[in-house]
Amino acid sequence: MTDPDDAAASADATFCPGCGRPTAVCAGCLWEYDPPHFCTTCGTRLAVLVKPTGWKARCKVHGEVAAS
Ligand SMILES: [Zn+2]
Ligand SMILES: [Zn+2]
Repeated sequence: MTDPDDAAASADATFCPGCGRPTAVCAGCLWEYDPPHFCTTCGTRLAVLVKPTGWKARCKVHGEVAAS
């Protein structure tokens, strides 16, 4: 079993927030002001809520994704 609590090395993005592919394949195709569509940690599609003041994105695994 893998322990998901091992979050020490999870600060760096592993997946492209624009297309969900590994960053080794795509260095980032998302426009600067666009909300992310995929979790950069696990590559799962995010539930994005766009608001007049900005956006909120949530990964079903990692919870809310902070605006960068
Ligand atoms: Zn991409
Ligand atoms: Zn995630």
